[in-house]
Amino acid sequence: MAIDATQPYDESNIFARILRGEIPAKAVYEDAHALAFHDIHPQAPVHILVIPKGSYVSWDDFSEHASEAEIAGFVRAVGHVARENGLVAPGYRLLANAGGHSGQEVPHLHVHLFGGRPLGPMLGR
Ligand code: AMP
Repeated sequence: MAIDATQPYDESNIFARILRGEIPAKAVYEDAHALAFHDIHPQAPVHILVIPKGSYVSWDDFSEHASEAEIAGFVRAVGHVARENGLVAPGYRLLANAGGHSGQEVPHLHVHLFGGRPLGPMLGR
């Protein structure tokens, strides 16, 4: 079920648990500001999630409350992961669901990074 993006941060969400090392993840990159790992149900040959280390529910929460360093670190990490996984030359797609209409399910900001094949129209029906 989609989350309410205006809710307070829930420390028990699955990505918070991954960040605390309570649940395993197939990590592909980590630095001071971000962690990247393979999506457990990939929807493309490459489907990586990049999350900030700070406790932010959604893009809305992050863009309003995160520090300049957190925002810069996160954006740089997303770009780094795309480059390191060979996605720049063939092309790739970033997607960040935020709240009810988007279908966001996990209430910790994450950017989906899709690639590895032509990705078709931007929105599903
Ligand atoms: P969203 O609908 O944007 O909130 O996307 C949540 C994504 O998290 C989905 O693509 C799930 O497959 C993925 N996901 C959920 N649990 C895990 C997990 N434990 N490890 C990796 N990916 C997960």
